[in-house]
Amino acid sequence: MADCIFCKIIDKEIPSEVVFEDDQVLVIKDINPLAPVHLLLITKKHIASLEEVLPVDEGLMGHILMLAQKLAREFGVAELGYRVVTNIGEEGGQAVQHLHFHVLGGKPLGVNIA
Ligand code: C5P
Repeated sequence: MADCIFCKIIDKEIPSEVVFEDDQVLVIKDINPLAPVHLLLITKKHIASLEEVLPVDEGLMGHILMLAQKLAREFGVAELGYRVVTNIGEEGGQAVQHLHFHVLGGKPLGVNIA
């Protein structure tokens, strides 16, 4: 998508700190980390948000969640716990309209969701 910042990151038109990449997903360190570990798992397919996910994307969704688990373990946050979040739409706090999952950990994150 022409004006999508994450599409530009995927195409390496905008620099980012890539920690993992395969044919379906790019994982970068968040530029404005909210925790000691703050990764963004970005689908290479441009999907606006979880609301736009289709049945054909079911395998991709499973893949990305298993990858979140794998990376949380590799980044050393799995034992004490971590959070996987996707923001959806305006009131969901979504700033970038391209599906991505945050993996946050490395400090106590609290229990508040709002
Ligand atoms: O879920 P939401 O859309 O609000 O999150 C977007 C995230 O993308 C933010 O945490 C922001 O820091 C991150 N970002 C980034 N690199 C960019 C632009 C945004 O890591 N170039």
